[in-house]
Amino acid sequence: MVALIAILAVTATGSSLLWRDRPTLDSAGWQAPPDPAENNASVTATWLGVTTLLFDDGESQILIDGFFSRPTLWESILGREVVNDAATINYALHQFGIRRLAAIIPVHSHFDHAMDIGAIARRTSASVLGSESTANIARGAGVPDDQIIVAAAGEAYEFGEFKVRLLPSRPAPIGWRGNAPLPGTIDEPLSMPQPIDAFREGASYSIVIEHTQGTTLVQGSAGFLEGALEPLSADVVMLSVGGLTTLDSEYAETYWQETVTNTGALTVYPIHFDDFTKPFGIVVPSPKFLGNLEKTARWFDAFRDKWDNETQILLPEFGKPIPLYAPPSSST
Ligand SMILES: [Zn+2]
Repeated sequence: MVALIAILAVTATGSSLLWRDRPTLDSAGWQAPPDPAENNASVTATWLGVTTLLFDDGESQILIDGFFSRPTLWESILGREVVNDAATINYALHQFGIRRLAAIIPVHSHFDHAMDIGAIARRTSASVLGSESTANIARGAGVPDDQIIVAAAGEAYEFGEFKVRLLPSRPAPIGWRGNAPLPGTIDEPLSMPQPIDAFREGASYSIVIEHTQGTTLVQGSAGFLEGALEPLSADVVMLSVGGLTTLDSEYAETYWQETVTNTGALTVYPIHFDDFTKPFGIVVPSPKFLGNLEKTARWFDAFRDKWDNETQILLPEFGKPIPLYAPPSSST
């Protein structure tokens, strides 16, 4: 018995040390994006943690994911039922001026991307665009059918001046035997509360957001299908780094080439580097064993120097609009 307690104590101490071993944000050595006011940019994206991004051209808004509720570490580990956190959702919609929302588009249907889409759609009347699994999350929340669009891969959907296409992709292969965690689909309307493992992946997408000013690729999970983005050219890539350093640097280099080199993007914003068990608004890099931001930064800097030396890598700041397509003539 004493031995068992000793083993448990050692394991718990070991896990908590592992959980606390994190790089700092500064250790990445990446600069912050420029101020939108200085750039006179009309299209901005505001990073709101994990891969939640609010695109805005002054007329229409598009929300990628909209993950505000943030179940705690213990709720996740113990498989407890979680709910949409109404207070945080209301706060986020108000605080970030989400009043002209045309569409909510999750990168896939895992909880850290899609658990709040129904609650947001009901408050804003925005359309939900995604896979059949994503549609079932919206249906379970009571979102009216005419607000739900099941995406056809590659088809263009227009929201104001934004034209959005969802291209088939893969989530990061960081689960058991190179699979993604929580695979499968959601086949029935999913009403809350639910444990987080009810949110199956559904389909994963690379989301292409075109505007008259420029094109942004949102790669919300560090997976790819070889050649899937081939003819695409993009100005900006929002690039998920979640779990990337648990894979090897060769994999990461191919991922970089598929998403950055092949699209010719000149600006890369890493996303999904923060611990999503923290409350909304708190940005702390993930524990190293789940994905090491500092190591990712060394890898990406090397890939950039080797393949794309004109590309800049900038670390988004929570809640601060990023000017996406600053007119280059402003400096002349
Ligand atoms: Zn994720």
